[in-house]
Amino acid sequence: MTIPTETYDYVIVGAGSAGCVLANRLTADPSTRVLIMEAGGRDTNPWIHIPVGYFKTMHNPKTDWCYVTRPDPGIAWRCLQWPRGKVLGGSSSLNGLLYIRGQPEDYDRWRDLGNPGWGYRDVLPYFIKSEDQERGSGEYHGVGGPQKVSDLRLRRAIAERFIDAAVEIGIPRNDDFNAATQEGVGYFQQTAHKGLRWSTARGFLGAARKRPNLRILTRAHALRVLFENRRAVGVEYRLGDSLSRCFARAEVVLSAGAIGSPQLLQCSGVGNGSHLQALEIPVVHHLAGVGDNLQDHLQVRLVYKTRHRTLNDEVNNPLRKLLIGMQYLLFRSGPLTLSASQVAIFTRSDPSVDRPDIQFHMQPLSADKPGDGPHKFSAFTASVCQLRPQSRGYVRIRSPAASVYPDIQPNYLSDQLDRKIAVLGIKTARRIAAAPSLAPHIVDEFVPGAVYQTDEELLAAARLYSQTIYHPTSTCKMGSDDLAVVDERLYVRGVEGLRVADASIMPEITSGNTNAPTIMIGEKAADMILEDARQAAV
Ligand SMILES: Cc1cc2nc3c(=O)[nH]c(=O)nc-3n(C[C@H](O)[C@H](O)[C@H](O)COP(=O)(O)OP(=O)(O)OC[C@H]3O[C@@H](n4cnc5c(N)ncnc54)[C@H](O)[C@@H]3O)c2cc1C
Repeated sequence: MTIPTETYDYVIVGAGSAGCVLANRLTADPSTRVLIMEAGGRDTNPWIHIPVGYFKTMHNPKTDWCYVTRPDPGIAWRCLQWPRGKVLGGSSSLNGLLYIRGQPEDYDRWRDLGNPGWGYRDVLPYFIKSEDQERGSGEYHGVGGPQKVSDLRLRRAIAERFIDAAVEIGIPRNDDFNAATQEGVGYFQQTAHKGLRWSTARGFLGAARKRPNLRILTRAHALRVLFENRRAVGVEYRLGDSLSRCFARAEVVLSAGAIGSPQLLQCSGVGNGSHLQALEIPVVHHLAGVGDNLQDHLQVRLVYKTRHRTLNDEVNNPLRKLLIGMQYLLFRSGPLTLSASQVAIFTRSDPSVDRPDIQFHMQPLSADKPGDGPHKFSAFTASVCQLRPQSRGYVRIRSPAASVYPDIQPNYLSDQLDRKIAVLGIKTARRIAAAPSLAPHIVDEFVPGAVYQTDEELLAAARLYSQTIYHPTSTCKMGSDDLAVVDERLYVRGVEGLRVADASIMPEITSGNTNAPTIMIGEKAADMILEDARQAAV
């Protein structure tokens, strides 16, 4: 049987947050032919475009890979659901819409870890380039880019009280976490426009979709990168029941995300040699760090019963629910436009720390876990996470077949600093809850509850009442040490013609939500690819 083949200049695997950016930028020159392949389908499910639709698209195998982590000793041997977008737009099509860039020091650290060109002043122009900021342009913001960013279209009294309480314990008010300083309390910005989600599929792919030099292939599952000697020349993939191959004259770019990219490298023979040999995969290049260095933000969720009516009451009332639907249909406003959180705090777990090391996500609603229906009583959630966790996990294939999910082990709270900050985070939440503006409105702490008091008890609560915020990164980290997978131009070390550009290349997780940084990575990767192509041509 002959396998159908086609040749392009660039083949991109994964149409997610980074992949869609690359597809747009690389096809701006009509003479460059690009194929982007996506294992998921088109983004036709209406819930993708309604901001709160993540409740419907998460844990739905039509749009979500539905990964589950290994039993993790650090969180009482629990296994967590790890949703990842499997659709055009990738995780930007089902994420919580929160737009946070991180702290300047994050990128300066990336640079200082052996990655010239990745300091804050180097990457800021790419954040600005991608952006279409509702508030207008400025030193930190851009307009006219494909990524729309806007303010929330909903305010609730309990959220205002929460902000006031944070100010009362000494946290400054901050109306823009993506400008001069991240520290403070205020409302999130979101990747939405006029009440609709603005995924990278909508923003970046939407603008490029009609270009004749771009081919978008959906339901195309990449199985392995094809090598000639050590040069990546193409990708083998499954489209429906048939096997196909495509070839890249210039480069193959993996943008399959923090799970997909290391999995694909390992399935292709690039990874820890002894692990690959044990699975009888021919080793193209021994690269020990592929899949290692996994990082994620673990949030401890505190739920407070309150005397205020919250979204729980609105959603649990059938008439109110109908009105919410009407409000959205008629005005594109109301609770259906909500990002996953409304209020953020970036602060220090201890005054001796030099920059914010914890983040709060506050929502005027509560549930047993994300994706579950709201509680039957009035309550709000204040979850707290450590911004720069030290615990490291891994993504490791169990089979040479790309259809078999890899083992994912986050190793949460395996580092002493992470355990300490988890405890300090809960204490900070309780200080806010006890502040004069908020305390009179609280009935009690429902989760974890007043029975948890000593440091050991608080750590036990952190192990039991914590969840991912869906930010896995760093499994193909950029750098120059032995565990680095890509260099500072995002080339996979030890082979040719192959780059990785997505959240997996972060040397360390950023201090905040990871979508905006991943879009920036896509922008910078595209610029480097085009620059290298120009240089090769002279
Ligand atoms: C439920 C959820 C909520 C989140 N909330 C927020 C938030 O509010 N704010 C924020 O900043 N961040 C949030 N994040 C994180 C953020 O969305 C991700 O960090 C970011 O989207 C990662 O981008 P990526 O390009 O690395 O991967 P993805 O966007 O996941 O893209 C990878 C793409 O590759 C495809 N793919 C994978 N393997 C293959 C293969 N073998 N063949 C073909 N295609 C393949 C996938 O289907 C996917 O489309 C959230 C994530 C999730 C899942």
